[in-house]
Amino acid sequence: MKRYALVTGASRGIGRAIAIELAKDGCSILLNYKSNHAAAEEAKRLIEEAGGEAELMPFDVSQPDAINAALDKWFAAHPDDYIDVLVNNAGIVDDEIMLIMEPEQWHRVIDVNLNGFFYCTRRVIEGMVENHHGRVVNIASISGQAGNVGQVNYAAAKSAIIGATKTLAKELATKHITVNAVSPGAIETDMVRASEEYMPERMRNINNIPMRRLGKPEEVAYLVSFLCSNWADYISGQVIGINGAAL
Ligand code: NAP
Repeated sequence: MKRYALVTGASRGIGRAIAIELAKDGCSILLNYKSNHAAAEEAKRLIEEAGGEAELMPFDVSQPDAINAALDKWFAAHPDDYIDVLVNNAGIVDDEIMLIMEPEQWHRVIDVNLNGFFYCTRRVIEGMVENHHGRVVNIASISGQAGNVGQVNYAAAKSAIIGATKTLAKELATKHITVNAVSPGAIETDMVRASEEYMPERMRNINNIPMRRLGKPEEVAYLVSFLCSNWADYISGQVIGINGAAL
């Protein structure tokens, strides 16, 4: 029986690296993204080049109707299958200090980073419970643990993800389903490059990171791969930082 893994936001950055690593582990990847088809096709190509398989599954994680439409279609085509691994990785930033943050910036970031987690997870864990096995990994952020100037919206969403992870882990503990959060520091992706443009002095100051470098998406992917493996059966409800000793 194939093991299916849904990775949200897998067209680029950390999500792409996670999708490639899980494919190497033998998972068949459901590769979600929002709108960058070219990047998603490239991610699929890299997975196939690594000997894995992937199907594209575009939807906006903040739109429950779009999620359900995509998953209804998938389940109809796979009546005997379920999704054993869910990585809630899709995320955005819209940085501004609170004093001048617009309500739309608050809502947009909460919708994608937090509500997207709820909609995807609510739908996918049904199959895990029925099949008595599953792995949920939520990508949080050091901002949600320590705070970060300009990111009240993002930090609120990410710390809420941490509370939800701990609670869901307890709710599913007897079902052989683990739920963990991986909390990266600054990782070299488009998201950090965009933040650099907004606050160059904050992001470029590598001196704030004890290891004096940004993390690589692959380094986050190795951790997620481990949490999704059988070696990690007894690890649940944890927040695992990957931040070059920054926290
Ligand atoms: P990224 O390079 O900007 O990539 C974002 C990914 O999310 C893309 O695949 C994008 O799809 C997708 N996405 C965005 N909005 C979406 C939506 N509404 N529905 C579905 N997919 C959506 O970001 P990243 O740096 O890899 O970040 C990945 C995760 O790690 C995020 O949750 C982020 O908060 C977290 N994180 C990142 C860092 C860092 O330093 N990079 C640090 C801590 C935490 P398209 O290609 O279609 O736009």
